Amino acid sequence: MERLQKIIANSGYTSRRKAEELIANGHVAVNGKTITQMGYLASGSDIITIDGKEINREVNKVYYVLNKPRGIISSSHDEKGRKTVVDLINTDERIYPIGRLDYDTTGIILLTNDGDFANLLMHPNNHITKTYLAKIEGVLDKNAIDKLKHGIIIDDRKVDIVDFKVKKKDILKNNSMVELSIIEGRNHIVKRLFKKLGYPVIKLVRTAYGFLTVADLKSGDYRQLTIKEVKRFYGQKK
Ligand code: URA
Repeated sequence: MERLQKIIANSGYTSRRKAEELIANGHVAVNGKTITQMGYLASGSDIITIDGKEINREVNKVYYVLNKPRGIISSSHDEKGRKTVVDLINTDERIYPIGRLDYDTTGIILLTNDGDFANLLMHPNNHITKTYLAKIEGVLDKNAIDKLKHGIIIDDRKVDIVDFKVKKKDILKNNSMVELSIIEGRNHIVKRLFKKLGYPVIKLVRTAYGFLTVADLKSGDYRQLTIKEVKRFYGQKK
């Protein structure tokens, strides 16, 4: 027996969080009966439908890493019809991005149809760091550096900064380059963090996701993860 939201996520239909929303909003049925109870346990032989359509419980799990270009949406679908990260990948599997990068942010993003894998990567307990290179307006001063060292509060919650390095300060052009590694994945978190310090982000690149980089991929290019890489991430599960 397994929780309904986990079965849906494992089917590659969507993430576990989205599956919970679908259940809560009455879109999910087990053997024809609508289930809104969270944590409902279903068995391998139960027929699970979403809006009347049966989910596929035997999916071929796939894992991609993409070097995201600017001007691409990090979701599976865009209401305005703009190009998404999923559109860049040639696959028949129903994949979705793990977390988000802003429209104008470039760099590493992972996509999968494996709900457990997506969950593992996003869960803060597993301490998977995301590293960003931010070009910011202004020359970072000592006060701001001290704040970065001690952690910054955004919306009543401290952003734990695992590591940061000031890579460059350009007094003439009035900007700085900062490399920053964080664990969490709140929306626009890097931009919000620097804005709070008084240094708006001009350009943002995600350079690493845990041990993985896209140094081998040109902008817009992608590849499948190796089995070894998938296992290495699974090995980080706490
Ligand atoms: N933080 C941001 O502000 N934007 C991103 O795209 C990712 C992290």
